[in-house]
Amino acid sequence: MPHALPALPYAYNALEPHMDELTVQIHHDKHHAAYVNNLNTALTPYTDLQQMSLDELLMGIASVPEAIRTAVRNNGGQHYNHSMYWEVMAPGAGGPATGAVAGAINAAFGSFEAFKDKFSKTALGQFGSGWGWLVKDGAKLAIESTSNAGCPLMDGRTPLLVIDVWEHAYYLKYQNRRADFIATWWNLVNWDAVNKRFK
Ligand code: MN
Repeated sequence: MPHALPALPYAYNALEPHMDELTVQIHHDKHHAAYVNNLNTALTPYTDLQQMSLDELLMGIASVPEAIRTAVRNNGGQHYNHSMYWEVMAPGAGGPATGAVAGAINAAFGSFEAFKDKFSKTALGQFGSGWGWLVKDGAKLAIESTSNAGCPLMDGRTPLLVIDVWEHAYYLKYQNRRADFIATWWNLVNWDAVNKRFK
């Protein structure tokens, strides 16, 4: 199988109380795993595509054969988005941005608080399932949201930070209160991981 579910970099309960153990377990072991399985299934007849990395597949999504393009966009996009999501969170993290990305955020948005407010509103305003993003678009930083499996990498932008706002990401603990989930999620942001992507 060309693609594999990455192990969680922490225990299922490590993100408590902001993100509950059962949500993390089902989200990783069931939702994320299913996207990886579905991606591998779609690629089964295509030995040439199996040699490509996930990044290559997504950046070249337009040249993926039409018969599986939607399956690769959806399942490959979700595999990428979830792998990144686990990576940009950590126990005992959060707080204001650090390192080089902190300076870039201040330059682009005026202050960390202004950035946080705009990012939160964008994630909150995503209608239905999707993702909130901080991306590098050429030399500048930008905030955006994508619906369903949308991933900025497919449009040539570099993702730096992501929040999952599909209901499965928060419903067990927060039900319909997406705003509460987003507000507490900031306590999990792993700025070291964001800085690695920024470099
Ligand atoms: Mn998800």
